[in-house]
Amino acid sequence: MNPAKRHAFFTRLQAANPSPRTELLYTSPFELLAAVLLSAQATDVSVNAATRKLFPVANTPAAIHALGVEGLIPYIQTIGLFRSKARHLIETCRLLVEQHGGEVPRSREALEALPGVGRKTANVVLNTAFGEATMAVDTHIFRVANRTGLGKGKTPLEVELRLLRLIPPEFLRDAHHWLILHGRYICKARKPDCPACPVRDLCDYRSKTPDPLEPTAATVASAAPAAAAAAANDTEA
Ligand code: SF4
Repeated sequence: MNPAKRHAFFTRLQAANPSPRTELLYTSPFELLAAVLLSAQATDVSVNAATRKLFPVANTPAAIHALGVEGLIPYIQTIGLFRSKARHLIETCRLLVEQHGGEVPRSREALEALPGVGRKTANVVLNTAFGEATMAVDTHIFRVANRTGLGKGKTPLEVELRLLRLIPPEFLRDAHHWLILHGRYICKARKPDCPACPVRDLCDYRSKTPDPLEPTAATVASAAPAAAAAAANDTEA
């Protein structure tokens, strides 16, 4: 995809959704960190259902740490991998209290040193809680970037670095959310909704889902003889 198309791509996503937001519910950097940590291989809906019950009871590192693993599990047991997530979250809370004064650190290195926090989670927190221009490449962004030609790569890190280099700076802060939402609702894994896609003409994907209302080459070809016969009949009449 060339730079002009890339700019138009984000101009359109921005026009459709000027202030994109994460669909995880949170009111503080710590709530966001906890929600993202719980969201690995789980839907935002399932995480929100759990944190809606958890956060009114405990929404600080000290309060969640005080619950302990067994006290935390009843709140999050509807989320996949809840046992290991409970252990990670409790240990993360302990480190936040002991090493960061109960605050979420604003550095990638300190975030990635927390249990259960990898590069992607750190990128989400840096971007969404602190407004930094990071790109957390999840399954949606990986697919959209490769399909459309926005930023191709074999690994999430390759895609992340390419997108950071190629996305025009004015779009970088919100690009993460635009691409996730685009992948989640339009450029879906199994059957992308190309007929409804606002960037259809800019996208490089060769196997776009056809528009059922648009005539294909085959239907045009099969209709041609009938149309020619009808025209001939008109002329003879
Ligand atoms: S045209 Fe289709 S493949 Fe391309 S971005 Fe839109 S939905 Fe995805």
